[in-house]
Amino acid sequence: MVRNCSACGTQRASVKRPKTGAAVCKECFYQQFETEIHDTITSHSLFNRGDRVAIGASGGKDSTVLAYVLSLLNKRHDYGLDLFLLSVDEGITGYRDDSLEAVHKNKVEYDLPLLVVDYRTLYGWTMDEIVSVIGKKSNCTFCGVFRRQALDRGAVQLKADKVATGHNADDMAETVLLNFLRGDFPRLSRCVDAVTGRDSALPRVKPFKYTYEKEIVMYAYFKKLHYFATECIYSPNAYRGYARQFLKDLEAVRPSAILDVIRSAEQLTFPPPGSKDTAMPVQKTCERCGYITSQRLCKACVLTDSLNNGTAADVNRKSRPGRVKNQSEAQVGHAVKAKE
Ligand code: SF4
Ligand code: ZN
Repeated sequence: MVRNCSACGTQRASVKRPKTGAAVCKECFYQQFETEIHDTITSHSLFNRGDRVAIGASGGKDSTVLAYVLSLLNKRHDYGLDLFLLSVDEGITGYRDDSLEAVHKNKVEYDLPLLVVDYRTLYGWTMDEIVSVIGKKSNCTFCGVFRRQALDRGAVQLKADKVATGHNADDMAETVLLNFLRGDFPRLSRCVDAVTGRDSALPRVKPFKYTYEKEIVMYAYFKKLHYFATECIYSPNAYRGYARQFLKDLEAVRPSAILDVIRSAEQLTFPPPGSKDTAMPVQKTCERCGYITSQRLCKACVLTDSLNNGTAADVNRKSRPGRVKNQSEAQVGHAVKAKE
């Protein structure tokens, strides 16, 4: 039986929204999808008028849709933002070179300035070279630290006020589960924040915090957006993969499961009431490169040293997930994400 759109009531329903189960026409899907992102932006005060916003652009579906939708909403609601695309080239042959092609297309299609920063220039090493030295086991530890700092350095070059990333609701829920499974409570309460580092010089914002991955894919498909769909060739993702599959199984039975996990984590506070352990590491700047750190040298400089002096395998062993020692190490896991 042909059903009419549950929103407008006039058009034929052609989409069943994974998030709500509602049968809607394409136009109403676009409208609802975009409005929900606008609501996240306004309810979490993600931007201020006049902000220069660097969109972390990997060429994947999330950042491609983010660039498209932010451009659209910026015009529609007159946010008054200056938008830029900021890409990190890790030097992964057969992956990043292809996905950067998609970013270059986005730059033209959305008429946004693009800056690409690369590991070779910043650290003297590409990921291909790093993997050839340390193997494929802890490569994401290096890559995550390097990418985080590379994005910040690129954003500073762009004189950006904020960095917007395409972390979606599925990513958020996965991270909640992983932090829970690792017993990492400090990160558990922070990992669902729509804004991290609000008081820092360069806050990171996540407009897709409540946006389902399946709907991002649908939106990109219907709108015929250009993105690159392949996973990184060095992605191990073993542990995250289990969390992802578990969530997908839950979502199949109850679509609200993803949002429910996020909402649960939003209720958590750290330290727990009554706890005395409130001390955060004192923030300093790296003696060598000036990047923010709680140690003498930032994590990227420590890792680069280990590559240069041939001890990278030892650093590797000490950087196992779950052994979070300080703020800069905590950033490692936060940044280790296969999607950007
Ligand atoms: Fe880097 Fe992500 Fe590839 Fe790991 S999976 S090497 S973090 S791009
Ligand atoms: Zn440094």
